[in-house]
Order: sequence, then C-alpha cells, then structure tokens
Amino acid sequence: MMPRRLKPVYIIVLAVLAGTMLFAQKKSVKHDAAVQQEEFGTREGRPVNLYTLKNAHGIEIKAMNYGGIIVSIRVPDRKGQFADVVLGHDKLEGYIPNPPYLGAIVGRYANRIANGTFTLDGKTYTLPKNDGPNTLHGGTTRTFDKVVWEAEPLKGKNGVAFSYLSKDGEEGFPGNLKVKVTYTLTDSNELLIDYEATTDKATPINVSQHSYFNLAGQGTGDILDHEVMINADRFTPVDKNLIPTGELRPVKGTPMDFTTAMKIGARIDDNYEQLQLGHGYDHNYVLNRKGPGMQLAARVYEPTSGRVLEVSTTQPAVQFYSGNFLDGTVTGKEDRVYKRRYGFCLETQHFPDSPNHPNFPSTILKPGETFHQKTSFKFSAK
Ligand code: BGC
Repeated sequence: MMPRRLKPVYIIVLAVLAGTMLFAQKKSVKHDAAVQQEEFGTREGRPVNLYTLKNAHGIEIKAMNYGGIIVSIRVPDRKGQFADVVLGHDKLEGYIPNPPYLGAIVGRYANRIANGTFTLDGKTYTLPKNDGPNTLHGGTTRTFDKVVWEAEPLKGKNGVAFSYLSKDGEEGFPGNLKVKVTYTLTDSNELLIDYEATTDKATPINVSQHSYFNLAGQGTGDILDHEVMINADRFTPVDKNLIPTGELRPVKGTPMDFTTAMKIGARIDDNYEQLQLGHGYDHNYVLNRKGPGMQLAARVYEPTSGRVLEVSTTQPAVQFYSGNFLDGTVTGKEDRVYKRRYGFCLETQHFPDSPNHPNFPSTILKPGETFHQKTSFKFSAK
C-alpha cells in the first residue's frame, strides 16, 4: 500500500527535477547565446559599451557603439589556435582620433566625393574637405565613425543593432537620415552586417565597414603574402586624387586582375600607373553579378595560418585597399605598431564619387524608400 500511495509524489518530484534541469539547461544556452555588454568609456557625455558576440565554435567578435567600430575578431587557424585578425585599439581612447578608420562604419558617403561637392535636384551641396580637394568617408567631425550610436542587443539572436540619426545638413548632406547597422554572428562562422536607412529629403548614401584584416594575426606583419581572389572583371581607374575617371576598365592583362587568387604582394609595386597613383591597391572593383542578392565578392587565404575570409554582399562593388597609408604612426592592440600594408580592407560599397558620375549606379536615397544592403564576412581555415 505504502509505495503505491507514494507513487504520485515520486512522479511529482521527478517532474519538478526534470523541469528544473531543463530550465537550467535552457538558461545556460540562452546565456551562451546572449550578447555580453561591458562599459568601454564615455564620449559626448554618453556611455560607450563594448558588445561581445560569441558563437558555438568559440569565434568572438567585439564591437562598440562609438563609430560602430569592430574592435576585435578572434577566429581559429587550421590547428584551432585563435588569433585576433583585425587591427584596432585596446581602449576607447586609442580610437580618438582614428585617422585610418580602423574597424569603423564609414558614411554618410564612404570613399571619396570629388572637390567636396555634388549637385542634386538642381541644388549644389558643399561638404567639408578632409582628403586634399576631396571629402573622404563623409566629412570631418560628425561622420559615422566618430559619433555615439544607440545600441540594442538583439533578442534571441547573437547580434547587436546600432542606430544613428544623421541630421539634415550634418556634414553638408541634405535630409534627416536614420541609419541602422546590425552585426550578427552565426554558428556558420559568418559575421552578417545589415545596413538600413531612410531619409526625409533626397540624399546620397554609401555606407561601408572599414575593418583592416590580417589573417595571420593583427600586428604580426604585412599582408603581402595573403592570397586574394576578387570576383570582378572590371575596376574603376582613378586620377591623381584617387577619384574615378568614369572609365570601367577590364582587369585582364593588368596587375589589377584578381579573378584567380594571387598574392597581394606579387605585383603591388609593378610599373603600372594605377598602382602608382594608389600607392598600391586602393581601387573600386565592379563585382560580377548574377542578378541582385548576395554575391561572393572576394576570398582571402593566409598560407601560414590557413585562415580564410570570404566576403559576400548585395552591393555593386568592393574597394580593395592594401593599407598603403598605414605608416607606423599608429600603435594598436597589444602595443603592436601598424606599419605600411599591415592590414587590408575589403569595403563593400557603391562606386566612389557616384553623385558626380551619372553613368555609375545611383546612390541617391529618396523619401519613402528604404536603403538596404547586406555584407557577410565568413571565416574558415584549411
Ligand atoms: C581609402 C583609402 C584611405 C583609407 C583610410 C580607404 O577606404 O580607399 O584611400 O586612405 O580608406 O582613410
């Protein structure tokens, strides 16, 4: 009789125990997937936080709401050894100022606008110049890389969204532009970057991510032995101010050709006018597209570590910049000195100076429209 009477009690106890275990397990999974947040300093009297995204394979990405800057990306090599593969600083102060735009979101107009001016709907706009006669990466003071963004960790996802309102007239651009950039780290080792924007007046927009990669590990040397493939049959040649001439030139038969993988350093100092003008690679490649949507833009392989980076995007182009203007004046993470060509950028974007080139794909966002672009950085090793 006794055991029979106790049976329901046992069942209840077992059920409660099982429930608690399940709950505990769920909680820890949730905890693993949750975005960690820590204080990183203050700017404009506002808190700057560092957000850590970590996936099931131990990949870890840190980004902050000052400039939307990616501070570190730790990924394994072919033996499973982790290293930080992006240039940056250990502390917020290191980023102020940040002349090479290490890790930052660049905009309202990434890349160059010739003579700091453009005409839209019959009106001429003047922008602050910060690159000889040009405006580079949106201007001088309140550009996307230098402001504090609102941050919101994503619910139930391994990501964080940064939002910023670029006010009408800011840096000379028309319209109140609401921008949102979301970083998500997937369990397939991809960092997805989603860009969205709306405006109340027509404005040019070109937003990009300015991380400098070194797949052997940040600050360990130059990137000349990295092997790069760029999925582009054409590029936009530049003049002496690095402004596109308007020509779309085939890469075939030139040292600009990366349609099959080549070491960055193999031809970088060749006697080819475009390489001399760019002081190396600093050019916009027109991506080969099979319709709209995500398209493989570039693949980079670093032979000593075996690390691979694949860049895919919805954008029409990618700026391949071989870090030619790094000159050893910036000391970054772990006191590493960033010398010439210690990092490369693959900045997915529209063509430079598009507002002054009617033959280039349009970069004008109008009221009622939503700007939407996506880029993914996928990491692996072989
Ligand atoms: C440009 C380079 C420039 C670098 C840092 C890149 O996007 O193409 O010319 O030096 O940004 O501003």
